[in-house]
Amino acid sequence: MTLKYQTFDALFEALARSEFRSKFRLTGDDRVFAELRSPELLNQHAHEILKNRIGASHPKNDGKQTPYKGHPVFTAQHATGCCCRSCLFKWHGIEKNRELSDRELNELSAVICEWIRRDLEKPAKKKRVRKGETLSLFD
Ligand SMILES: [Zn+2]
Repeated sequence: MTLKYQTFDALFEALARSEFRSKFRLTGDDRVFAELRSPELLNQHAHEILKNRIGASHPKNDGKQTPYKGHPVFTAQHATGCCCRSCLFKWHGIEKNRELSDRELNELSAVICEWIRRDLEKPAKKKRVRKGETLSLFD
């Protein structure tokens, strides 16, 4: 890898020590979406999303361009420090003000997919039910 952390394990250990990064989990529709798609397709989505949202030398709305929900890749971006160019520099050592290379996009997509894979291995986060609230069967 050309990234700051040379292995998934080294990166994921560092992320686990960050209170902010480690709180992200796939839930609801995003988890279901990830469970039902092949790793190849998720990788393709990760690549496209990264290229479109953080790949340019000066991405649009940098720092605010990544939603928290709506696609498992978005959640994974926050969890892995791939959400904006500042986080990309901090976590992966990729400097700002230049386009990401294909190699970097491939490596970052692999990071995103590894995070999704590891998250799906953990038991689903239970939804908290408040008093008087009924859980929807289809949630
Ligand atoms: Zn960020």
